[in-house]
Amino acid sequence: MPILLDGEKTAQIIKNELKEEIKKAGLRPGLAVVLVGKNPASRVYVRHKKKACAEVGIKSFSYELPAETTQYELMELIEKLNLNKKIHGILVQLPLPEQINEQKIIQSVDPKKDVDGFHPLNAGRLMLGLPGFRPATPLGIIELIKRYNLDLVGQHAVIVGRSNIVGKPLFQLLLSEHATVTMCHSKTKNLLEITKQADILVAALGQPRFIKKNMVKKGAVIIDVGINRLRSGKLVGDVDFDKVKNITEAITPVPGGVGPMTIAALLINTVEAAGCIH
Ligand code: NDP
Repeated sequence: MPILLDGEKTAQIIKNELKEEIKKAGLRPGLAVVLVGKNPASRVYVRHKKKACAEVGIKSFSYELPAETTQYELMELIEKLNLNKKIHGILVQLPLPEQINEQKIIQSVDPKKDVDGFHPLNAGRLMLGLPGFRPATPLGIIELIKRYNLDLVGQHAVIVGRSNIVGKPLFQLLLSEHATVTMCHSKTKNLLEITKQADILVAALGQPRFIKKNMVKKGAVIIDVGINRLRSGKLVGDVDFDKVKNITEAITPVPGGVGPMTIAALLINTVEAAGCIH
């Protein structure tokens, strides 16, 4: 039987630990959550993040701005949040409306409050192996693998998807854990030949049930990052879970795998930003 990598349960354990850390430190970490517009998926993510903050004792400060907000107005708000001593972390929920330049906004967040780990300074620190905030989804994935005591050292990890928020930072994190890492994307030739070599296969491409049984090596560990809503309303990952699971050593479900771990990792970063963990 494969091990089901339970992100819900693991995230709960992490939340309990963080709650204790916060109590011990006697601090009140603050997270500003900025949402622009009414993107339904973003609203759901923001709601989950605020709920998780409340559970562990992080105060969330909510900023919901209209879809017509200009780049200047958003930057003004971020400038205020950068200076606010009660706020230790700033999260600007992506995607932003098209009149706003995402990169400029990311770069306007104080790197010391960049709990999403998207600022170029933190991206550079990750690349160089220096301390800094790591993006939540990759950090959550590494945490999940470690908490289940799965091997990383010397393992061949294959990542499908090279986005700035998942694939690229995960590449660096896996490398720093001494995995041998291969990165694939939409132009990769012979994808199946590469995924079949993976000891750890990460699917982060955003295509429902794309990874089929014939693309997976027997005994592989499968991390499914994808969140895809089918017409029926059902949420599925990027892996054909039902057909793939029985040949794996371990696999994450969707929902209940990487999603909750992403939120747990955001909380870890926020608690660290507030100085509760050293
Ligand atoms: P992006 O759309 O930014 O990137 C997708 C990547 O997948 C690109 O690098 C693209 O290649 C590659 N890709 C697309 N199609 C193929 C294909 N047929 N074969 C090989 N590679 C392909 O996605 P994100 O990284 O933002 O998100 C990926 C998925 O993860 C989505 O379903 C998203 O909802 C989910 N997600 C889940 C999170 C969680 O907390 N669980 C957090 C973040 C994302 P190219 O670069 O060549 O275009």
